Amino acid sequence: MKVLNQKYFSASVNRDLNRLSKISNVAYLVATLVLCGTIIFSYNTLKQILVEQSHLNAFEVSNNELRMTIQESSLYLSDLKQAKEQIESESRLEQKINHRLQAALVNIHKLKTQTSFHLNHLRGYEYYDRFFRMFNGPPDNIWQKLDQYVARLQEVSTNGSSSTAGADLLWLPVEATAAKNGALGKSYETALLRLQKITSERADHLATTHKNLSLISIIIVLLELGLIFIPLRQRLQKVNKKLQSAHEELYLQANFDQQTGFPNTSGIAKQLNGAGSERPYNFLIIVSIFDIENISNIVGPTLLDNFFKNFSHKLAQTFPEDSLIFRTGDNEFGVINHASAGNAYTGNIESLQSKLASKLSVQNAIIYPEFKLGCTTGIITSDNLQDKLINARLSAQHYKHTEPVLPAYVSTMRSKIEEDSLQIERIRTGLKNSEFIPFYQIKVDAQTGLICGMEALCRWIDAGGTMHSPYTFIPLAEKSGLISEMTWQLLDTIANDYKRWCELGLAPGRVAFNAAEMMLREVDFPVRIKRVLEKTGAVHCPIDLEITENIALGSESDSISKSLAAAHELGMHLALDDFGTGFASLSSIVSMDIDIIKVDQSFVRMLSSSNDARNIVASIIKLCQQLEKKCVVEGVETEEEWAFCRDLGCDEIQGYLFYKPAPFDDVVESLRYEQQLKKAS
Ligand code: C2E
Ligand code: CA
Ligand code: CA
Repeated sequence: MKVLNQKYFSASVNRDLNRLSKISNVAYLVATLVLCGTIIFSYNTLKQILVEQSHLNAFEVSNNELRMTIQESSLYLSDLKQAKEQIESESRLEQKINHRLQAALVNIHKLKTQTSFHLNHLRGYEYYDRFFRMFNGPPDNIWQKLDQYVARLQEVSTNGSSSTAGADLLWLPVEATAAKNGALGKSYETALLRLQKITSERADHLATTHKNLSLISIIIVLLELGLIFIPLRQRLQKVNKKLQSAHEELYLQANFDQQTGFPNTSGIAKQLNGAGSERPYNFLIIVSIFDIENISNIVGPTLLDNFFKNFSHKLAQTFPEDSLIFRTGDNEFGVINHASAGNAYTGNIESLQSKLASKLSVQNAIIYPEFKLGCTTGIITSDNLQDKLINARLSAQHYKHTEPVLPAYVSTMRSKIEEDSLQIERIRTGLKNSEFIPFYQIKVDAQTGLICGMEALCRWIDAGGTMHSPYTFIPLAEKSGLISEMTWQLLDTIANDYKRWCELGLAPGRVAFNAAEMMLREVDFPVRIKRVLEKTGAVHCPIDLEITENIALGSESDSISKSLAAAHELGMHLALDDFGTGFASLSSIVSMDIDIIKVDQSFVRMLSSSNDARNIVASIIKLCQQLEKKCVVEGVETEEEWAFCRDLGCDEIQGYLFYKPAPFDDVVESLRYEQQLKKAS
């Protein structure tokens, strides 16, 4: 499966998106500005033309009306003449016509003002001057002609019915004709024709401008589409695609194990989420492979992936098809079954064990996987999956591959954990209150039985006065990391006690303490241990350091070997504790420059019953003699055991036969007693 570098990916997509967002921001701004500019420009241009057009129209309409009113008035003039020519002049008819004439006069006046008003609005257009001159000045002088005509009408209207009427009647038709077809009429006709022409010209202009502006707008929109929006959209689609495929890839990485392709815990939680409730999953088995380091050494680190891949396929072949198989951790797989399948396995664990332990080929290497199994029951859901995994892991701690039992989780396993964490808290408080003190178990010379030294053993006397065995608190102190602080505290007390014994004139011999691996890994171990040794007040270093075989195994680590070398240099003797029970090789005795070997008490326990045990103890004592190492036998409880060791030439004995671990004051008594015995003899 391809591995996506999430960091690189997000940086690249972010860069793309940033750039894209900057470009699109600028593009949208430019496009919007251009579009707005075009719209404003078009609007203004069209508005200007429309305003002109509307004034032109108003000018034309009022001109037409004026012309029609003038023509109307000329008709009234003719009518007036006819009315006056009647034999019996009908004054009522005359009056009526006069009346209309007056109204026409008022109308002409009003329309003239209106027309001038509209003409004024056309000021600024190129044709304005022509119209202005046409109405106000030579050669047409329409207003002047109209004013003359109006004055005449006024005159006729006021004097028409008087006695001089007969003479006046002669000119009336002339005026009427003039208004209709004469100078005024002609001038008007010309003006109106011109006006019509200009109005239609401007209407054409409006149509053309409108067309051009529309064209420009369309071109701009098309340009924006072609140059900005389509490329932007394409780029966005590309980034989107990239995002989508990366999203899928990230989903795979988040939910599937890269080495095997099987789901991981979060992937399986998602599957459980979607699982139907008709057939719930009721059984979880975890398979925890150990000694991965060894497997890696056999196949090589590059092929470790193949090992896990092959092992996961083996799991798939071993469990029923509807099982959910997933990788829960570096060396751990989980299998979720329906209850019936789970039950089948609890009853048939041997077949499961042998299938999983069968050989696995990884290229040319053959591996027989070693593993732990654990299980838990009860409905498994996405919500309780993590909890169930913890339960199964807890149960796996009880797995023994030699026993045909699949250990199942029971609630007491949890309470053990809770109890442990409570106990760790109590240890922490105990350390603050200096409740951890050394007891001393005196060692004797194997040949003479006289005191030659002692081993400091930690005791915890809590606030209630209860004394706890180191077997109950040392493992928890190691697990919690408190062991280091505990040992340094203890060493301080040991140094003080040593000084006090000397001040009392007693000879305690060398005092050994049990070193913790954690303190040996501390970089400032040499400095701290030197400071402690100074507190003893002794000229030659009187403290020895005991390490277990397990610590010896880790002595290849730089920090541990440096600490041990520093201890040696300061004059401390190194003792290999519980010899014969761990996995240290004999070569480590040489490489670590061990001074003392302590034979484990489990061999001493079997001395009376086992020939092999006797042979082993004899061989170790002989080995120590040949290597010139001091040999201490631990756990000697009987005279026979002492005699056996003494006769073989062992150097020192530590056991209940002589002394049990005891507090400072008791040791003072023992030392004093022996001092007196020596003096007496
Ligand atoms: P160890 O270092 O092997 O200490 C010897 C243990 O054997 C002591 O048990 C001692 O009381 C016991 N013992 C000695 N002679 C006899 C005997 O004749 N018969 C029997 N049955 N037992 C005998 P203890 O004090 O309970 O300590 C147990 C273990 O706890 C120690 O084994 C050591 O591994 C660890 N331990 C004790 N104190 C410390 C400490 O300060 N630091 C560390 N790291 N471990 C400590
Ligand atoms: Ca010891
Ligand atoms: Ca021991």
